[in-house]
Amino acid sequence: MAVIDLKAQIGHLVHLQTIDSEIYTLKNEKELKPKEIEASEASFAEKKKHLVSLEESLLNLQKQRKDKELELASQEENIKKLQTQLYQLKTNKEYQAMLQQMEGEKANASVIEDRILELFDQVDKIKNDIAQEKQRLQEEERVYSQQKKNIQDRIKEIEDRLAQLEAQRKQITPNIDQKMLAQYERILSNREGLAIVTVKDNSCQGCNMFVPPQVINLIKMYERIITCEVCNRILYIENE
Ligand SMILES: [Zn+2]
Repeated sequence: MAVIDLKAQIGHLVHLQTIDSEIYTLKNEKELKPKEIEASEASFAEKKKHLVSLEESLLNLQKQRKDKELELASQEENIKKLQTQLYQLKTNKEYQAMLQQMEGEKANASVIEDRILELFDQVDKIKNDIAQEKQRLQEEERVYSQQKKNIQDRIKEIEDRLAQLEAQRKQITPNIDQKMLAQYERILSNREGLAIVTVKDNSCQGCNMFVPPQVINLIKMYERIITCEVCNRILYIENE
């Protein structure tokens, strides 16, 4: 059996842990990034809804106006028809009745005209609202694009850093006993990226549970790897 300098091995593991801790944090951050982009996208899409509803209202008002214009044209046609009939009437009574009917039709036409004018005003107002909304959305789109770019830049930054860290890792791992490395990596993946921790003031810095003095003595003897009884992480003493 090859003799292992356990103290030196622990030193390598501690070094490896600083790298792995950074890898763990960066990977977690990177995993959240697509969700951030989605959220930003969704918020921008939500902001566009108001414009869509304004544009629908505009179409609706324009259609109403067109209908009213057609209605007015047919009303005016009616009045003209009555006008020509007026002179063909034989009795004064008929003449008066027809005049009265024409007055009624003219009053109707005037109501429709007023409504058309109102609709013109409403269309103008909504066109103005749409122009403002489009300008606002332009600014929102600029903000959204910038946010997205920032996130993508950060992802790239994380990926570059991860590649660096992986390279550093590869320089250290050949110095570590394979079984020990396997144990370390197993704990790393089961314990939130933290496999080796110090004991400070008789407590494990991984889970804060009490570490008895006899266990601390065992750590200091460097005869075998000592793990925390509660969280299973490898324990070591700093500056020993
Ligand atoms: Zn622990």
